[in-house]
Amino acid sequence: MPSLAKLDQKFVWHPFTQMRDWLRREPVVIVEGRGAVLRDAKGRDYLDANSSIWTNLHGHQHPKINAAIQRQLKKIAHSSALGLANEPASLLAAELVRLANAIYDLKGNAARKSQIANRKLAKIFFGDDGSTALEVALKLAYEFTRRTRGPKTKPRFLSLDGAYHGDTIGAVSLGHIDLFHQAYGRMLFHTDKVMAPYCYRCPFNRAKPERDDARNYRKCRWECVSLVERKFAVQKKKGNPYAAFVFEPLMQGAAGMIPQPAGWLGKVAEIARSHGALLIADEVMTGFGRTGNGTSGATLFASHHEGVQPDFLCVAKGLTGGYLPMAATLTTQKVFDAFLGEYEEFKTFFHGHSFTGNQLGAAASLASLDILRSPASERARAELQKNLHHELQSLWRLPNVGDIRQVGLIAGIELVKNWRTREPFALHERAGIRVCEAMARRGVLTRPVGNVIVLMPPYCTTRLQLQKMISTLAEGIEALAAPRHGKTA
Ligand code: PMP
Repeated sequence: MPSLAKLDQKFVWHPFTQMRDWLRREPVVIVEGRGAVLRDAKGRDYLDANSSIWTNLHGHQHPKINAAIQRQLKKIAHSSALGLANEPASLLAAELVRLANAIYDLKGNAARKSQIANRKLAKIFFGDDGSTALEVALKLAYEFTRRTRGPKTKPRFLSLDGAYHGDTIGAVSLGHIDLFHQAYGRMLFHTDKVMAPYCYRCPFNRAKPERDDARNYRKCRWECVSLVERKFAVQKKKGNPYAAFVFEPLMQGAAGMIPQPAGWLGKVAEIARSHGALLIADEVMTGFGRTGNGTSGATLFASHHEGVQPDFLCVAKGLTGGYLPMAATLTTQKVFDAFLGEYEEFKTFFHGHSFTGNQLGAAASLASLDILRSPASERARAELQKNLHHELQSLWRLPNVGDIRQVGLIAGIELVKNWRTREPFALHERAGIRVCEAMARRGVLTRPVGNVIVLMPPYCTTRLQLQKMISTLAEGIEALAAPRHGKTA
């Protein structure tokens, strides 16, 4: 019987992976997980420092989610949402709508009332993954715009430089990461991009590097916001104002864990609104408490931290607690109503997936939301956020650390050749990959985004486990400076 690793290498093509590199080394084969720990086929334990590519919330084998799935399995695993309703999907839709409107209960939102008035999220379209959640928002926004502005309108979309919204063709069209998207350029439709804040490398930031998150010492005049304003104004002049503005709120993930300075999202959302654009919030990574509890009360969504209620809220990854592939696109009654009509009018939203509203996924999601709402989980998240901040400070002593940026329970550590000049590592040095390989050898798993190391621990991560993640990362970074021949790491 060939080993699992051999079977994998013989037959499996891995995502976002240079398979030539993959075939050179025996892969880690995961067979079990519990809490923040993954175990491989050889019985070795690893800390899951990126929550299995940003999906897991409460840890692996959470008893409540396991039990919910088992209970559901005894009833049914799946029946179609085409022509049929089901129990857990109906319950989940009601609960998600309630939570997605929690913004109306937050403290300090009185001043923002005009911004969020009549923007209740009322309807849910279930999908399979982050990409399909965005495809649904994109198609709905496109068609809604044509129906409200007239069928001759060509709806145009604006998204952020460095944006990543998934790998299906619509989602790729909304994205602006050249490395991923260039190859498919001719298959894509055109979308405009505008500068996203990236304080650490912003050409408008006149501050010299310091040993602190670049957002805290930046010296600028919000030029990035002025550019958004200008973009909307120019498009308006052309007589076809943007149909929608698409963004990852508070932090852009695949762009390199790039956080927005406080206030940016509120400002640009207001600009977009004033130009009549729909707001599409991609909370695939940021949703479900990832960006912290916030100061105005516990909210599960990043947009709400800045008093922004989008017209489309796209969620996936953590929806099921990271257990099963399931996504949701939430939208307003107004958008929904634009698709109502007689059968023969063909106003129907012609879109759907075989596993839309899957019962096992919905049952897992309901259990995950139940855990998230518990005071114990809120406390644990607040504690983990505080501890993450504290532990990260120890990394500033390393000269190859340029920027440490934390948003809630997400951290990006940007590696540089020289922190005083912000000089980046060259591509061929594979700095991010080498650090993550060194971490894996020491029992901590994560994936870099270029030269940015991502830490996104499951919410159940203990202080000791967190300390191990950070000390292992520090060792990996220190090993970068060591000579590359021999077994240095
Ligand atoms: N949007 C964002 C912000 C993401 O981070 C991702 C995945 N990394 C996606 C969309 C696509 O999600 P999926 O991989 O589930 O299709």
